[in-house]
Amino acid sequence: MTRILGIILLLVVLRMAWKSFTIQLRTAVFGPPTLPKAPPPPRAAVAETLVQCATCGTYVAARRALPGGGGNEVFCSEECRRSHPQS
Ligand SMILES: [Zn+2]
Repeated sequence: MTRILGIILLLVVLRMAWKSFTIQLRTAVFGPPTLPKAPPPPRAAVAETLVQCATCGTYVAARRALPGGGGNEVFCSEECRRSHPQS
């Protein structure tokens, strides 16, 4: 039983030594490991003005909204623009 434990312990030590060796080898060949670059901010974090559709009330990005109607009204879709009572 102690022989089996000794073999397992030896394997664990060898594995640790091998891991340490490969890390040192990688550092020697490729240089020290660099931290991964910070990911770009998610799309939602980028400020975007939202405007409300005059017909259905849906909020859409201002750059995607369709102008129309009499005043400053904007619409989420061509369908909403057509079905708006004042246009
Ligand atoms: Zn709409």
